[in-house]
Amino acid sequence: MNILVINAGSSSLKYQLFNMETESILAKGLCERIGIDGHLKHTPVSNGKPVFDSDIPLPSHAEAIKIVIEKLTSADYGVVESLSEINAIGHRVVNGGRRFSTSVLIDDEVIAAVESCVRLAPLHNPANLMGIAACQKAMPGVPQVAVFDTAFHNSVPDHAHIYPIPYKYFEEHDIRRYGYHGTSHRYVSALAVKHLGGNAEGTKIITCHLGNGSSIAAIKDGMSLDTTMGVTPLEGLAMGTRCGSVDPALVEIIASIEGGIPVKDAMSILNKQSGVLGISGISSDFRDIEAAAGINANDGSEVEGAEVNYRAKLALRVFNYQVAKFIGSYIVALGGVDAIVFTAGVGENSPCTRRGICEHLKGIGILMDESKNGSRGKGEFMDLTSEGSAAKIFVIPTDEELVIARDTMEIVK
Ligand code: ADP
Repeated sequence: MNILVINAGSSSLKYQLFNMETESILAKGLCERIGIDGHLKHTPVSNGKPVFDSDIPLPSHAEAIKIVIEKLTSADYGVVESLSEINAIGHRVVNGGRRFSTSVLIDDEVIAAVESCVRLAPLHNPANLMGIAACQKAMPGVPQVAVFDTAFHNSVPDHAHIYPIPYKYFEEHDIRRYGYHGTSHRYVSALAVKHLGGNAEGTKIITCHLGNGSSIAAIKDGMSLDTTMGVTPLEGLAMGTRCGSVDPALVEIIASIEGGIPVKDAMSILNKQSGVLGISGISSDFRDIEAAAGINANDGSEVEGAEVNYRAKLALRVFNYQVAKFIGSYIVALGGVDAIVFTAGVGENSPCTRRGICEHLKGIGILMDESKNGSRGKGEFMDLTSEGSAAKIFVIPTDEELVIARDTMEIVK
């Protein structure tokens, strides 16, 4: 069975075609600048065919899907003979609201439910819906499945998901903590359970998905008990460009400092110009910030004699402190912890970040083995636990696309 995984953004569309017998990627790609001008990078993985990487008109998501299918089946860049070899499509859908706690087969009713969640994820859900509509048009009759970022966190109990604001906003408008990155937290926590002995019951795991966007989840008995992102992905940790949890009065204060700009512009500053980019003034990419802070990219050590940019270093310190602070609060939420998991771009690849976070955990007996941390994540599981540590410290590469493909196969079967 071959499954096409689609992650549609407002002007982009990522895809991967999986052969599920081997769980291997046949081809992957990225359409960018949809509706503006258009660029496609298409990479055949399973055969030696060349990469297609060019500007190409992409006036709409429907057009983008059409061109993706053309590439997947073409003589020059293709990996399958015809459309009939694509058996099902799995879509990443960002917010499934209160209704979806698992992945589902897409029908008209599911589409209507996703539409009703647009106000909870105005930047993401409309794009996901465009991806679904485009696939329905280009591949009529091929079953499609929705895999929600929020689904895994539907188990977060009321005391952790209710905001202390007038209750009517929850009752009448569904405003609550939803949490995101659910497919990633689910995937890496399930692997952590395996490394802890295989039985989810009784396990207490804290998963740290640290990438461009970052979130942490507290997972007990294999179920999400709390998570840092909120009704939107802006809450929680400081991120690449997002401010995370700050005093909400800042919206008004920033608007006033900027000469009375509208709320949406103040929000844009908190979404796009804040986080480690805002503090460092250098970049949202941790590699650039680490370089400016005089960090050796290979092992995360401090380069002797290197010039150290204060704000770059401060951005890293703020981030590490926040991660550690949430870990501490989740140890309380879980009543202990068996394993702390680092995943995603930063969590998997930045020894300096892992060290900076674990420095804060020493005081509560969670100890990382420095000699194991120094190696770059090579896409493999790493156990960084030092002898005598009160909890395990794992690095587990995430794979959200594989989860979407697996869920899709399971449902279509
Ligand atoms: P996204 O949220 O876009 O899925 P990723 O999980 O792919 O993000 O993480 C991307 C981020 O990971 C980059 O912006 C960069 O900050 C960080 N990153 C990737 N490789 C490294 C590295 N070798 N060292 C430090 N940070 C890294």
